[in-house]
Amino acid sequence: MIKDNLEKIKSRINSVVHCQQVTLIAVSKTRSVSEIQSAVDAGQYNFGENYLQESLDKIEALKDKGLVWHFIGPIQSNKTLKIAENFDWVHSVDRLKIAIRLNEQRPQNLGQLNVLLQVNIDNESTKSGVLVSEIGQVVSQFSSFENICLRGFMCIPNPNNSANSFSLMSKIMTEHRNLDTLSMGMSADMESAINNGATFVRIGTDIFGERV
Ligand SMILES: *Cc1c(COP(=O)(O)O)cnc(C)c1O
Repeated sequence: MIKDNLEKIKSRINSVVHCQQVTLIAVSKTRSVSEIQSAVDAGQYNFGENYLQESLDKIEALKDKGLVWHFIGPIQSNKTLKIAENFDWVHSVDRLKIAIRLNEQRPQNLGQLNVLLQVNIDNESTKSGVLVSEIGQVVSQFSSFENICLRGFMCIPNPNNSANSFSLMSKIMTEHRNLDTLSMGMSADMESAINNGATFVRIGTDIFGERV
């Protein structure tokens, strides 16, 4: 079933994608090692996790498989060390303090940690991320970091307005030509995100089924 779902998602991606490379991230929060293993067997190797403790157990259990792990959940500052030590990408850097800590704590032998700045694209009080008006100022601070590399942006738009939000993100990307990664689009709005230049889509339920 996981294999069939992955095939369906990939054909949805291929039916809208133009020039950019789109990478499917299977969001595996709350899923077991054996569910992840089924996805690996079907050729999936990028996984997204939200909760640090459960993710560490899974990363450890699957450490010989060559998987790419993305941290996509809210980050408290006391969690940055383990994130810096165990993940390949962090999508949810939502304030400078977190970037500073990740930069200090990233083990040098692992190479640079790829990070995305989370943008609160609809200016919602319930969501984290920098405001659109703050992006330029925050991005400029990243040039001093040696152990993390800012690759682009991530957003979780309000579902009622996501096409407009994706289009605004696309415009923001054109103002930052040195960045190459845009993480946006979930099961319901993936096509619209890809049309607006998403390079990572994050899909959980449509791959693994409803979370219980
Ligand atoms: C859970 C989650 C997803 C995937 O959501 P589904 O509804 O399971 O597809 C994507 N992005 C983030 C940030 C999430 O927390």
